[in-house]
Amino acid sequence: MLTISEIFHSIQGESTYAGAPCVFVRLAGCDLRCSWCDTPYAFTGGRKMAVEDVVAAVKAFGVDLVEITGGEPLLQEDVYQLMAALIDRGATVLLETGGQMSVDRVPESVVKILDVKCPGSGESGRNHWPNLEILSPRDQVKFVVSDRADYDFARQVVARHGLESRCAAVLLSPVHGVLPPADLARWILADGLRARLQLQVHKYIWGAHVRGV
Ligand code: SF4
Repeated sequence: MLTISEIFHSIQGESTYAGAPCVFVRLAGCDLRCSWCDTPYAFTGGRKMAVEDVVAAVKAFGVDLVEITGGEPLLQEDVYQLMAALIDRGATVLLETGGQMSVDRVPESVVKILDVKCPGSGESGRNHWPNLEILSPRDQVKFVVSDRADYDFARQVVARHGLESRCAAVLLSPVHGVLPPADLARWILADGLRARLQLQVHKYIWGAHVRGV
């Protein structure tokens, strides 16, 4: 069984898949409290669903791109069964994880979108650093950046772990409404960083505080 916050069909707003129609499965519960978290409603509640019922709900949308997110999806053991079932049915599966738990049991064909928490989140002490050593070339590493100190932290992590060449993309995302995207753009360009500035497209389409999109 899984505890599900919501399942919905929308436009993918992040990662190299931004802009693509996607089904989102949001699992309830998180053991972090990032200062800028935009889904605190997923911390609690949710409804119990059997894995096969989640798979059926996803398939009903007729879209073969699926993101499993949260909350923190890896807190629920049956998420591994869900990933396997979706892969078996031919879906492209993205896993958005906060980076505080090991990803070593995530199936190889799942695209991991792995957060590295910057100091401004208040949770940088929880980063599980061994995750950066087991990335596959299709995986993506995301830093949510609230200020220059966060950017400098991200740049140092990228350099220390050789991320520009070891994964599909380094994603830098300014905290919406806090860090002007132009500031982050200038810093990336000045440093010649091989990273993607991502703007959480869904917030521009639907609004910043709309749930279930
Ligand atoms: S890990 Fe994600 S869901 Fe959990 S507090 Fe941080 S941003 Fe929110």
